[in-house]
Parts: sequence; C-alpha cells; structure tokens
Amino acid sequence: MAAQAGPLAHISSPAPAPPDWRSPSLPIAIGISSCLLGENVRYDGGHQKDSYITGVLGQYFSWISVCPEMEIGLGTPRETLRLVGDAERPRMIATKSGADLTDAMITYAGQRLRELAEKGLSGYILKRASPSCGMARVKVYTEDGVPAGAGSGLFARALMDAFPLLPVEEEGRLTDLHLRDNFITRVFSYRRLTALRDSAPRPAEIRLPSSRPAEQPRYTSRPARDRASRMT
Ligand code: SF4
Repeated sequence: MAAQAGPLAHISSPAPAPPDWRSPSLPIAIGISSCLLGENVRYDGGHQKDSYITGVLGQYFSWISVCPEMEIGLGTPRETLRLVGDAERPRMIATKSGADLTDAMITYAGQRLRELAEKGLSGYILKRASPSCGMARVKVYTEDGVPAGAGSGLFARALMDAFPLLPVEEEGRLTDLHLRDNFITRVFSYRRLTALRDSAPRPAEIRLPSSRPAEQPRYTSRPARDRASRMT
C-alpha cells in the first residue's frame, strides 16, 4: 500500500544526499614536510614525527610527503644549511663547506610545485625553522654567521608564492587551539570550494525560479470585517 503523505511525512523522509562538492567523503590531499611523518630525512638521519599530525589529522587527510633537501640529492647524514644575506631574498648556504644551494633549490621547487599542482592539494603543513621548509621566522645570517634577520625557507617561499590562497601552517603553530581550528576550517573550506569549481556544469534543465510578482497578503481591514459580520 502506498505510504500516506501526512503533515509529518517530511520528518521521516531520508535526508537528500549532499552534492558532490559537499560530500564528507571527499579526499583531502595535504602536502607535508616528510620529517613530520616520521621519515628519517633530517640532516642527522632522524625525524621530527608529530603525533597529533600523524595520529589525529592523519585520519582525515591524505599526505603528500615532500622533503626538498632529500629531493635535491643531499641524502643523509648531510651538512646543515642556513639562510644568508638579505632576509627578503636569502641564499641557501651549506654551513661547513660554504656550498651555495640556492639555485638548485629554486629550480627544484619550480618543478616540484608544478607536479604538486596536479595533486589537488587542499593545504600544506611545513616544518618550522627549516631553511627549506620554514614558513616564517627562519633565521637569516650575515656572511660572518651572525643571526641578523628572519625569513622563509626557500621551498616554503616558492610554495606560498605559487599557491597564495592555499592554507599553509607550521606544525609548531598547530599546537595552538585557535590556529589549529583556523587551519582546519580553511582546509575544509578550500577543499569544498575547489571541488565546486571543478564540478560538472549545472544541467541546463535546472534553473533558478524565475522572478514572480510577490503574492499580496489577504488583508481585510477591521471596519470591513465588522460590516461583513453584521450582514450575516
Ligand atoms: S624540514 Fe623539510 S628539508 Fe628538512 S628534513 Fe624536514 S622535510 Fe626535509
């Protein structure tokens, strides 16, 4: 027997499925400094695994792991690097040998970022204080090795220039509740926005309702109501 449509029928109706761009099952790809995932890629062969990132955020995000220093061929263990010169345009120098790796890192970053553009990133988590990955406040030294300013790691700078709207944070700042909430909100918003942008065009038969004259309220003045009641 067909179900009766009553005044409460809408309560028992299943909720309509959300459109694809709002689906809670959308994969969320996040770029991340490899050492934060526990990969042994640091200069000393160690890592900087972050248990909140891997344990909590890892339930929701798909990681795209990137270690710029390994990917330009430095290997482990390796010399430490540091930023030298103008804080706005620092050079990347190997601390002991004095080798200048600036051009190698910038060339690599351009190529790697073109690859990452194909991955549909919705955010990026960077390792703080790194001359390659640090988002901000990375020490910049004079030629004599004296700390004289602060800037961004070379790969991080190239990333933020290439994707200015991409939510980017450092693992250290994610320990702050408000900054963490802000970052996660931006990631989900960015994911939905890019999914909406990339979704199929709206079918032609679906149109917004055409504008109609507003319905006039059925209003009768009190004297008119009184006259009407006296006539009955
Ligand atoms: S901070 Fe960046 S460059 Fe340094 S080990 Fe981690 S991922 Fe590699």
